[in-house]
Amino acid sequence: MTTQRSDEEWMMQALMLADKAWQQGEIPVGAILVKDDEVLGEGWNQSITLHDPSAHAEMMAIRAAGKALKNYRLVDCTLYVTLEPCSMCAGLLVHSRVKRVVYGASDAKTGSAGSIMNLLQEPKLNHQVEITRGVLAEACGEKLSAFFRERRQQIKAAKQATQG
Ligand SMILES: [Zn+2]
Repeated sequence: MTTQRSDEEWMMQALMLADKAWQQGEIPVGAILVKDDEVLGEGWNQSITLHDPSAHAEMMAIRAAGKALKNYRLVDCTLYVTLEPCSMCAGLLVHSRVKRVVYGASDAKTGSAGSIMNLLQEPKLNHQVEITRGVLAEACGEKLSAFFRERRQQIKAAKQATQG
């Protein structure tokens, strides 16, 4: 029997996908969809690159997984994402029938897995998603902070350049 990979190991992989977003100048969020220890879909935030406000990491991973499975239901799958899903992605996760969501950093502004609301476990909806919170939360949060720090510095440098 093979040993199952841990939540932390999968989150490390999601963090590497977040780096791809960063390389494209996107807010670094990465997601990976897993079933039976197998990767079905990977995604990273690409909203700016694709001119698509729905191109969040979770959305990209789920679209890829649906195509891989040739199914619009992602039963018994787990989604790993570095940042707490927003309401759009939480809605998508309910529609896709994902079994469990594991996230890293919480999002106090848009997080819809408990922070501003808990759409993933809304009892009035026909599907509830298990949630595991805070896996590698510090690493996930620090990546976002570092990105915004860098961006602020770039803006500042650009301003100084035009003033000089
Ligand atoms: Zn989202």
